[in-house]
Amino acid sequence: MRSLQTEIEQRGARIFELVDRHPEPLFSKAGFYQRLMALSMRDERFKVQMFRFVDVLPSLRRSGDIVQHLDEYFTDMRNGFAPLVRTGVRAAKIVPWISGQLLRWNVSGMARQFIAGKNPDDVMKTLRKRHEQKIGFTVDLLGEAVVSEKETDEYATRCLELLEHLARETDGWSDPLDDGTELFPVVNLSVKISALYSQTNPADPADAIAHLAPKLRPILRRAKELGVFINFDMESFSHKNITLDLFKALFAEPEFRDWPHAGIVIQAYLRDAEKDLVDLIDWGRARRTRFTVRLVKGAYWDYEKIKSTQNGWSIPVYLQKPESDANFEALSRVLLENESIVTAAFGSHNVRSIAHAQALGDELGIDRTRFEFQLLYGMAGPVKRALVEMGYRVREYCPVGELLPGMSYLVRRLLENTSNEGFLRAKFSDNVSEKILLRDPNGLVRESPNGAGNPDSVSKDRHLLDGASLDVPPGDVYENAPLVNFAYQQSQEEMRAALRQVRARLGKKYPLVIGGERVWIDRTTASLNPSAPDEIVGDVAAAGIPEAERAVKTARDAFAKWSRTPFEERARLLERAAAIMERRRYELSALEVFEVGKPWAEADSDIREAMDFCLFYAQQMRRIGRPRLTQHVPGEESYYHYWPRGVALVIAPWNFPIAILCGMATAALVTGNTVIMKPAEQSAVCGAMLMEIFEEAGVPPGVLNFLPGHGSVIGAHLVDHKDVDLIAFTGSREVGLKIWESAGITRPSQRELKRVVCEMGGKNAVIIDSDADLDEAIVDSIYSAFGYQGQKCSALSRLIVLEENYDRVLERLLSATASLRVGNPEEPGMTVGPVIDKTAYERILSYIEIGKSEATLAFQHQNVPAKGYFIPPTIFVDVKPNMRIVREEIFGPVLSVLKARDLDEAVKIANGTDYALTAGFFSRSPANIERAKAEIEAGNVYINRSCTGAVVGRHPFGGFKMSGGGTKAGGEDYLLQFLLPRVVTENITRHGFAPEETPLYRDEFRVRG
Ligand SMILES: Cc1cc2nc3c(=O)[nH]c(=O)nc-3n(C[C@H](O)[C@H](O)[C@H](O)COP(=O)(O)OP(=O)(O)OC[C@H]3O[C@@H](n4cnc5c(N)ncnc54)[C@H](O)[C@@H]3O)c2cc1C
Repeated sequence: MRSLQTEIEQRGARIFELVDRHPEPLFSKAGFYQRLMALSMRDERFKVQMFRFVDVLPSLRRSGDIVQHLDEYFTDMRNGFAPLVRTGVRAAKIVPWISGQLLRWNVSGMARQFIAGKNPDDVMKTLRKRHEQKIGFTVDLLGEAVVSEKETDEYATRCLELLEHLARETDGWSDPLDDGTELFPVVNLSVKISALYSQTNPADPADAIAHLAPKLRPILRRAKELGVFINFDMESFSHKNITLDLFKALFAEPEFRDWPHAGIVIQAYLRDAEKDLVDLIDWGRARRTRFTVRLVKGAYWDYEKIKSTQNGWSIPVYLQKPESDANFEALSRVLLENESIVTAAFGSHNVRSIAHAQALGDELGIDRTRFEFQLLYGMAGPVKRALVEMGYRVREYCPVGELLPGMSYLVRRLLENTSNEGFLRAKFSDNVSEKILLRDPNGLVRESPNGAGNPDSVSKDRHLLDGASLDVPPGDVYENAPLVNFAYQQSQEEMRAALRQVRARLGKKYPLVIGGERVWIDRTTASLNPSAPDEIVGDVAAAGIPEAERAVKTARDAFAKWSRTPFEERARLLERAAAIMERRRYELSALEVFEVGKPWAEADSDIREAMDFCLFYAQQMRRIGRPRLTQHVPGEESYYHYWPRGVALVIAPWNFPIAILCGMATAALVTGNTVIMKPAEQSAVCGAMLMEIFEEAGVPPGVLNFLPGHGSVIGAHLVDHKDVDLIAFTGSREVGLKIWESAGITRPSQRELKRVVCEMGGKNAVIIDSDADLDEAIVDSIYSAFGYQGQKCSALSRLIVLEENYDRVLERLLSATASLRVGNPEEPGMTVGPVIDKTAYERILSYIEIGKSEATLAFQHQNVPAKGYFIPPTIFVDVKPNMRIVREEIFGPVLSVLKARDLDEAVKIANGTDYALTAGFFSRSPANIERAKAEIEAGNVYINRSCTGAVVGRHPFGGFKMSGGGTKAGGEDYLLQFLLPRVVTENITRHGFAPEETPLYRDEFRVRG
């Protein structure tokens, strides 16, 4: 008996032989397009610019804009294409109308290679042609990027219309193999789940399924009546479990239980694909009805890698191409071995993968009409033809829709076709030999010098982490703590368990901690759950003046020793604290849900940020801790180093209740200051937890003192205290400015000039340019404005939209806001929870009233819980720059939309505020993006992404003007503000003799003894 490998090689050779009989280049459309693709494969920068240009083009309405973008994207290219573009652009500027049309036509041509038709009528032409070629079809409706429930309803309606149309038009068509229609209906529709619910949150599969199932049932019902096959496509990893659960839930319902014409996709590039497939097969056996699995490698490889790396998640996909190939083969075996319950559809263009499935099918004695090969429209035409000639069942995946909604599909195809790793490029462009193309991928994995790629290790090269090279960006020497990935069921369960556990101890009492002692006093403040204000989260001691005095004295006394403690020991304290936070991570997040109304993921990112502050500042302290030589000069050495300032008063807000408190306190601690830590009254239990963590981590008595209390009672007293040397404050402008002023007054017997590290509010603007990608701009703007109820100092409150786009943006913005989930954040998928307390609630409502009198109320969310401090997300239009709602900080879910004539006016409006904290700009014009980078006045300017969510080390955070003193939390310079610089100079010459070498660094200067 011949080995499987020999069989595969033989079949592969046969396919190649048939393919070579009808040679076809990788890109079937000749001319312009082929040249572009060839160039893209040679020149990575050109490829990036080209894909970006293709991406923006359909949204440009005027020919002049098209020419302008062409110019911006390509004229500084240095390759063979540049002279052509330059000439083209010059000519185009003379006759923009003609050139704009020409470019649009060419890019449409490019899209037509992959998109089978603009509409149901149009696609029928392709399907008829394929039918004659004995190729079946599955149709996919483009436009999955939905931002609102209105858009999902439209998509569902279009799906139904498409079904009817296809069924009507193919009436009487026979099976291409004249066999097996009961397994393979003629009409086959591929559905993308993400297009049917705009609020899918990976943390809340139950909610997603509860919304998706009613949308899908009518489609399935009609499909069943019409004898149509429905396939659930698979999208990004975050949707995977939801898609699988939904499939299993729907097709187990009595109505659909016996219906065999349902299929789902398994992506072999996922590490957990085999487990999912085996689970599905078990489910299928219990259901006792056939179903289909389309096995693919997967279309979102780049996205998954980028997203996971950014969030510090374990990467769910294999990292080496042969691993995906090998897994595809392993899963092919699982599928074919279970042919009695599952029909296999192999979705691949790779001749090796295809030949493997064929050989295995034969080995297992499965008739070739009982499974099928599926390939994408516009790709690998000769392979399809060869398979038909060999008597296999072939189905083509035919996307239908306009170019604009089809853009993400088109970009995925362009990436795939030009990928260095891809089979199609290797075979049809790079002419790699058959022998190489048919190699066993398992052998390649084994032979790889790195073995199988490690999902946790790609984020950084180790050599980068020592920061040895000057070329390394400063943030790169630090690797952030990971976020929790709530797409995993285990994370969801841990969070639910933590919520139960924290709920059980609500109402506990918390003391002050001064000098390591728990101080119980009668005066307490109840911290309430803003979702249910009758629930007391904790009763926290409220310090008065005597306790404040005691805390200052204790901190002062502890300073002598702590300031002389080696920085390495102080850094380790922070690292131990981070490790404890990691251990108690879910519990801390759960507490934030109760105490400050944070949705799950927001709470988790607060804990991550706190850990990051500990770890980042520990690392930064090591960087600056040792005395450093100022200059090499013979006979003398001067060392620059730092001393701590003294007693630091840390006054923190409630909106990032652990992260900001922790960030300011750890910066003070690691630099050798002693600390009085005053949390906000509304989040004092979170503060108590942080204290507990530091006690467990071993902070010496008196070095960190926990002093919750009312700002009006102890705040001013401590700020003015002669023995407080530094005040680190984050909070409102009103309080911040008072501190700034009062700290400038020198009190009798005060030792030091007080240093104030001050972060205040913002009135942050986002500009949406006329060529912006609205799918992204709308979603990110909504998140920036309404995420955590707009209670982030970075939150968006002024959305500035260019006139040209205004109506389109507004229409989508309002319906997307109407779709937001508002409710108790104990529920996992909530986007908008309650505002912090009654005062905030009343203040925000009064601003809404002001808004109604100044501007036009365009939208107010209707579905808001009656109990708790819930404020409906609210949008005002007809807003003018001088109105109160655009000048004053509201700190709630209220958004003003302003119309700007052009970018000049938009930037002017954005900058026309007292604040300069964050800002955002959505655009696909390279020139406008450069302009925004240069001109927008804000401490943190974000392009083409939300303006909230700064990450320590990556986005050092803080503003200027009335937003703050220009400090950058989580940045390289931050610790310097907690330090006094010193220089020690020694004449090292003795009678004209001096050592030749002076070390760059010295150990810390310490008294020996
Ligand atoms: C009919 C059909 C329907 C499809 N439906 C879906 C769907 O619903 N969902 C979906 O996600 N995909 C889907 N795909 C798959 C996807 O769109 C790609 O076409 C497919 O992954 C390409 O694989 P290949 O075997 O043709 O080519 P090959 O060139 O052999 O494989 C390319 C694939 O390998 C993987 N890969 C690339 N680089 C690496 C690396 N460094 N490490 C590990 N793996 C790597 C990627 O998945 C890449 O797409 C479908 C494909 C077809 C043909």
